[in-house]
Amino acid sequence: MSYPITRPRRLRKNAVIRSMVRESALSVGDLIYPMFITHGKGIREEIEALPENYHLSLDRLIDEVKTVWDLGIPAVLLFGIPEGRDDLASEAYNPKGIVQNAVRLIKKAVPGMVVITDVCLCEYTSHGHCGIIEDGYLQNDRSVELLQKVTLSHAEAGSLSFGQLLPRKAWPHPRLSSVVSR
Ligand SMILES: [Zn+2]
Repeated sequence: MSYPITRPRRLRKNAVIRSMVRESALSVGDLIYPMFITHGKGIREEIEALPENYHLSLDRLIDEVKTVWDLGIPAVLLFGIPEGRDDLASEAYNPKGIVQNAVRLIKKAVPGMVVITDVCLCEYTSHGHCGIIEDGYLQNDRSVELLQKVTLSHAEAGSLSFGQLLPRKAWPHPRLSSVVSR
């Protein structure tokens, strides 16, 4: 006798039953809105590689955040585009950097919004790698120290969640828990 012997479709029979037994439900409350923050004034430029996503300057940020919040989306994920780049990604952990300033503005204007930040050095290094490069290799341990500094600066600005790629060695920053529990 070939498989399947029976086809138990009774739980898919109609919308009411499907709604009762479904294991996953996606709503607007699950969404996270990505935002790409750039220097300058009056900027809201569509990103060519990411249609309907925009580079926003800080003065255009809050209007967008309020719209997102009014739609019921509870979280934003911030990516920063620095003015300058160097070998140590200094702008990534500058307390007055583009992301840190954006976090402060958002938390002031829409305190309930969950602000997630991208803990990453790629956008901030002159070579585009996510850490310190020496002798042709990524220096993991020293790079993690920089990532800790990034995380701490984001937390001090008011961000509560962080995404990052490098392995979680010596992570998080020793001062991070006292900052986020304030
Ligand atoms: Zn990175």
